[in-house]
Amino acid sequence: MNIINIPALKDNYIWILYNAKKECLIIDPGEYISIIQIIQKLKLKITAILLTHHHKDHTAGVRKLLKLFPVKVYGPLETVNAGTNHIVSENDILTLLGYHFKVLFLPGHTLGHVAFYSKPWLFCGDALFSAGCGRLFEGTAKQMYESLQKIKQLPGDTLIYSAHEYTWSNINFAASILPKDNNIISYLKNVKKKRIKNESTLPTSINKELKINLFFRCKDKEIQKKLNTSSNNEEEWKIFAKLRTKRDLFT
Ligand SMILES: [Zn+2]
Repeated sequence: MNIINIPALKDNYIWILYNAKKECLIIDPGEYISIIQIIQKLKLKITAILLTHHHKDHTAGVRKLLKLFPVKVYGPLETVNAGTNHIVSENDILTLLGYHFKVLFLPGHTLGHVAFYSKPWLFCGDALFSAGCGRLFEGTAKQMYESLQKIKQLPGDTLIYSAHEYTWSNINFAASILPKDNNIISYLKNVKKKRIKNESTLPTSINKELKINLFFRCKDKEIQKKLNTSSNNEEEWKIFAKLRTKRDLFT
């Protein structure tokens, strides 16, 4: 399988998967012109569109694509107005391009957010980013915390295809909290090199995120100290909530 990204809008990635027969899947098309260009150039045939959540920067290209290619659009209930014609929910298995994709329900960023998992690939929209996680637009901190726990349990070599290039800003936030953390500092240097050349920092992996993503490290005493809290007297999702609030205020 080939997996490529199309940088779109301000900082979105539209992921395209295609097999040897040149059949492809489009994930979260926030626009359509760049997709048409790529599929013409690579001579791809759209088989299906997958949507992780209802935000326009993930769905605005669906109707235009459907006019040209009347394919199946898989997404959670909240994406019906965007053009979804096959509603998916937790643990559904979709067989596409000869691969099985499991639907993971990951509420928090939105209430119906899902991800698509086909070992070793995870297409997780705005649930998890490299060194960060999605903002809590609709769900609670507890929901998002639990969604991230679900992702964290996937195998370490899982490749994470997030829908935004937010890594530079996220890793700067992580370095502001843990300025002496070797993993964070070396990742910061790598990310800087890539971003200067306008290269993508994705996919990332579970193993990497376990080291550098503060939202995966709420048990870490150093992080708790910075948040003036401790897991002894506070539930872990509350530490996550404090961290998320601090991230929202970071510029
Ligand atoms: Zn979103």
